[in-house]
Amino acid sequence: MCGIFGIESHDEAASFVYLGLYALQHRGQESAGLVAWDGTRMCVERGMGQVADVFRPAVLERLGGQRALGHTRYSTTGTSVLSNAQPIVVKTAMGPIAIVHNGHLSNGAEVRERLERRGSIFQTTSDTEVILHLMAMNPRPDVVDSLLLALQEVRGAYSLLLLTDQGLIAARDPHGFRPLVMGECQGARCFSSESCAFDLLGATSLGELEPGEVVAVRGRDIERYSLPKAQVPARCVFEHVYFARPDSEVFGDAVSEVRTAMGVRLAEESPVSADVVVPVPDSGLFPAIGFSRGSDIPFEHGMIRNHYVGRTFIQPEQSIRDFGVRVKLNPVRRLIEGRRIVLVDDSIVRGTTSRKIVRMVREAGATEVHLRISSPPTRWPCHYGIDTPRRDDLIAARYDLEEILGYVEADSLAYLSLEGLLDSVSGPPDSYCNACWTGDYRVPISTIDPKQGRLFPIRTEDSQ
Ligand code: SF4
Repeated sequence: MCGIFGIESHDEAASFVYLGLYALQHRGQESAGLVAWDGTRMCVERGMGQVADVFRPAVLERLGGQRALGHTRYSTTGTSVLSNAQPIVVKTAMGPIAIVHNGHLSNGAEVRERLERRGSIFQTTSDTEVILHLMAMNPRPDVVDSLLLALQEVRGAYSLLLLTDQGLIAARDPHGFRPLVMGECQGARCFSSESCAFDLLGATSLGELEPGEVVAVRGRDIERYSLPKAQVPARCVFEHVYFARPDSEVFGDAVSEVRTAMGVRLAEESPVSADVVVPVPDSGLFPAIGFSRGSDIPFEHGMIRNHYVGRTFIQPEQSIRDFGVRVKLNPVRRLIEGRRIVLVDDSIVRGTTSRKIVRMVREAGATEVHLRISSPPTRWPCHYGIDTPRRDDLIAARYDLEEILGYVEADSLAYLSLEGLLDSVSGPPDSYCNACWTGDYRVPISTIDPKQGRLFPIRTEDSQ
């Protein structure tokens, strides 16, 4: 889960990318980076932390020119260190190239091992770097041709932006796992992981890149290319459940509307007698609105999220209660006390957070707590760019519904069916990836551990 944004032929390119990254902050808070081409050289700035931590006014002043791109990172492959922050910038026989990537290459470790045996020296442990090595080994007069060749050697999930001394290139994998949308801003072309960044900049969305589409923008010229077609599309439907911002449009649907529809369907599938519907903010908000509409049970903002808690929050060792969840979420006692609550959340991963939230709501005086989840049980890890735990740590992979109910200590528990989820989006059901619920991995997954080089039957990298 990462956010990428780029713009070509705009006088304030770096500032617009900076603002675009602000709108994509929810897709990754581990590191942020930005590179700009000023006509003679690439200027890059990367740092650990959020966009506001990394970019100061003096930094932005240094990043001149009309072409820039940036990245907010949430690691899946590669450790959480500055050297893995993107953009990755290299010098090649074709000139300097910078790259940012949202997704995960399923065969990245295998390609890397092959390249290392042939002498490649990698600067990072990120899978993204293999694309640059493949390009550098196959230089072409037109850098786009080199990219097209490289992309035919990798598989998995990627939405990419590349910056060269000639222009900006955007590419989306043939399965269309991750979103990537093109826009126009004051006559300049721009690209973003999500359309919410365009709203901030006053840019007009020109629609998503098609799966397998590569778009090269050089000045005002736009060229479109197609990678070989994938046999199966695999748009990540979890973007609608959790990752994307509700004010974005993803895969042709408004995320807010999809989430609301999921809640309505959940109320139809798993009704319950209760006094008030309360969302677990933020991603439970729209499903809870839908549940309220579908059940005629009043909606209340009965839980407040503290938006200022960073990933670096340290649990005080001497704590006698769980500050970890409480610092992020707090129930509104007056809305909860003496009432039967329907608590709506987007998913249950390990179950530990759900249990803490249910306990918190009870401690705030709820007489009953009914947990409703707006996606099916998460039973399989994601291998396409989302940082989920290994299978053993997913509560639904090991326990049935009754056992999970006992663990989370709710009065009742129900998940949205897969059919209900897929009925909530407008595309054909088989055009979406659903592997985290079904284990149906449409693109073969890696068997190599990138750190140790040992073979594993199935694992998620760096997710422990
Ligand atoms: S496994 Fe789940 S999270 Fe990963 S791409 Fe598929 S639907 Fe999305």
